Amino acid sequence: MSFSNDVRNELARIIPEKSCCQKAELSAMVALKGNLQTDPVGAYILQVEMDSAAAARKVYRLMKNLYEIQPTVSMRENRRFRKTRVYLVTVRILPEQNWILGDLGLMDQHGIIRQEPRAGHIRKNCCRRAYIRGVFISRGSINRPEGTYHLEMVFSEARLPLQVQKILSRFHIEARLSERKNGLLVLYIKESEAIVDFLRLVGASSALLEFENVRIIKSVRNQVNRQVNCETANLARMVDASVRQVELIEQLIEKEGIKGLPHNFRELALLRIEHPDSTLRELGTLLDPPLSKSGVAYRMRKLEEYAQERLQDT
Ligand SMILES: [Zn+2]
Repeated sequence: MSFSNDVRNELARIIPEKSCCQKAELSAMVALKGNLQTDPVGAYILQVEMDSAAAARKVYRLMKNLYEIQPTVSMRENRRFRKTRVYLVTVRILPEQNWILGDLGLMDQHGIIRQEPRAGHIRKNCCRRAYIRGVFISRGSINRPEGTYHLEMVFSEARLPLQVQKILSRFHIEARLSERKNGLLVLYIKESEAIVDFLRLVGASSALLEFENVRIIKSVRNQVNRQVNCETANLARMVDASVRQVELIEQLIEKEGIKGLPHNFRELALLRIEHPDSTLRELGTLLDPPLSKSGVAYRMRKLEEYAQERLQDT
């Protein structure tokens, strides 16, 4: 199962406590997934098509909690995509109950069907969170945190994504808007911090935990990589120095003979040629008497200076 499905299912199982939030969330799902028709007697048939059983159950429960209506849930194989199922919540709304459509923000006082949230549904922060959750359950998807960070909500409606973007910005979550070639508008978040804030906002605790865990593992891995790179760089510097020292010493011996070298340099020069891969600390232990790393470094620097001087004299 995809991470998107996990997150949407987790959100589908959350039933807000307050009825104001229940209404806000239901209004989002009904507006984005609903379909309104009239039957021969003139009653409205509202049908909401959800992708998962959990989401359909949520729509069903919120309808029952908020209004005295009797929805039914049914399942059907999706004709467009093989082997996927859709869950339909269907409810017949009698003419005397038409106010419910207005109450859900599905229809204005002129009987015009609308997708955007009613101002009253998103006036309070508690309701805004519930509304965003409803939008994500209906139109959202999110990448597994192991991959590229990406969360998006897709809209065919023109003004709605701007409204959702505005609500998110009230919670200091910055979502960007882009248009796909097929004309769909995509509201997306790519920054991991902002995705974490989003998951926290809509109450996806398990998803949030998983996301944070992977984020920590990733950042530790980056740290280790940086450390390895740093060690590799040190090693490269050390090898460069050794190559330079060996070359200088060989040229010096060629010019003056090993006996021509001052006594205190002779042993170190020979050790360096014999052990080109050894560190200065290791060379120090081979000296007789042994010398500390800084002692070897000092003597090696003097040896290099001496060699450079002597070789320039030609
Ligand atoms: Zn509320």
